[in-house]
This record gives sequence, structure tokens and C-alpha cells, in this order.
Amino acid sequence: MKVPWLVKEKIAKAASGLIADYEAVAGYPVAPPVPVEDIIERSLGLTLSFEDLETILGSKGVLGATYVGARLICINERLLEQGPEGRLIFTCAHEVGHWVLHRRYAQAAMRQASNGDVIVCRTGNARERIEWQADYFAGCLLMPQKEVVSAFHEAFARDALVLHNMKSAIGPPSLFVDPCVENWARIAAMVCEAGGFTNVSMHAMIIRLQELGLLINRTDAPVGWRESPTIC
Ligand SMILES: [Zn+2]
Repeated sequence: MKVPWLVKEKIAKAASGLIADYEAVAGYPVAPPVPVEDIIERSLGLTLSFEDLETILGSKGVLGATYVGARLICINERLLEQGPEGRLIFTCAHEVGHWVLHRRYAQAAMRQASNGDVIVCRTGNARERIEWQADYFAGCLLMPQKEVVSAFHEAFARDALVLHNMKSAIGPPSLFVDPCVENWARIAAMVCEAGGFTNVSMHAMIIRLQELGLLINRTDAPVGWRESPTIC
């Protein structure tokens, strides 16, 4: 499905607006971990369901689906079995992103009979604009900028970490984090712990830190795309 380009600020504003809506419903301020399942059901009034989506849709690699007309968010039930909840919660937040940002386009596509009013998310579609927007929304929802910056400052007492090296120059055991690519998961874990981000993965946090300019990678190696042997 084709969707218009959106600036990051507009996506972030949509996510913070949703948190504000939820706070009005719940009657208390939200702090991490952001209760995305409760937001889906209480604030948006949607049904959240866990299903064998690959069988239902006859397609492999399905993570989640948003059924606009039915006001239903479905998550692949296999994510419930896959260890830490980070990926499950991120997928829930990603589908919320589709609901907030894209449901009108799904409805328009249905009216044109070119598609159903369902947005299906598969592992191989991450580079599509619609999927990138939903991922960015999920990051903003689960890891609000203000809380991430505060946690980062608490963990590292500086404005940003700049990575110049792939490997640590400090051999284990070390009481300090040597900012380098191989320590990416430890850096993310320290921010998660400082900010109470207990429902996000290290992978999601390290991406968010880079998006916010808190982690600057000066090496040629990608940060966070491979599991680190140190933590995770
Ligand atoms: Zn998606």
C-alpha cells in the first residue's frame, strides 16, 4: 500500500498525542514501560488478538496485521513463544502506528476494491515506506524522547556517545563501558535500566539512541543489527 511521506516530527507528535490521550483515559501520567496493550484496548478501543496468522493468511513471515474495519489488531501468536517480550511489544506498537497513521489509506484502498482494509506486516517488508513509518512510530511510542534523553544522561552523564572503534580497548572485566560497536547491547541495556524501559529490546533501544543523536557511530560497522555476545 502506498502512503505519503511524513516528516519524523509529525510521526513523533502522533505518538506523543496518543500517550496524552491514554493519560486522560487512565487518569495518571505514563512512564516507561509504556503499556501499549492497554493503550490499544482502553484508549483506542481496539481488540488485540494473538492468532496463527501465517495459517490464517497463508503466508510465511507474518508478524502482525491491522484489520481496520473490524477494529482489530492481530499479532502472530508465535511471538508469544519467542523469549523476551521486546519483539512482541514492538510489533503491537508497530500495528498501533498503522492504525494511527495509515488506516485511512487502507479504507481508501478497500473502496477502490484494489485491496482489503487489512494491513499485513511481514518480516521482509521493513524497507517499505509504510513499514518504516510504523516502526518509527513504535519507537517514539515505546521510547519517548524526553524519557530516553533523561535515562541516557543518568546512565552516561554526557550529551552523546561517539563510537570510533568496533572493538573495546578495555579488556574484561571492566567497571566502565568502553563506547564501541561491540558494546552496543551494553550501552542499550544501561539506558533501558536507567529509564525503566523493561518492555523494549536492546536492538530497538540502540536504534532509538541513534535516531535521537545520543549515539553517533563513526565506524563503518552497523550498530545493533547483529546480536551481541555481551548482553541479550
Ligand atoms: Zn507493518
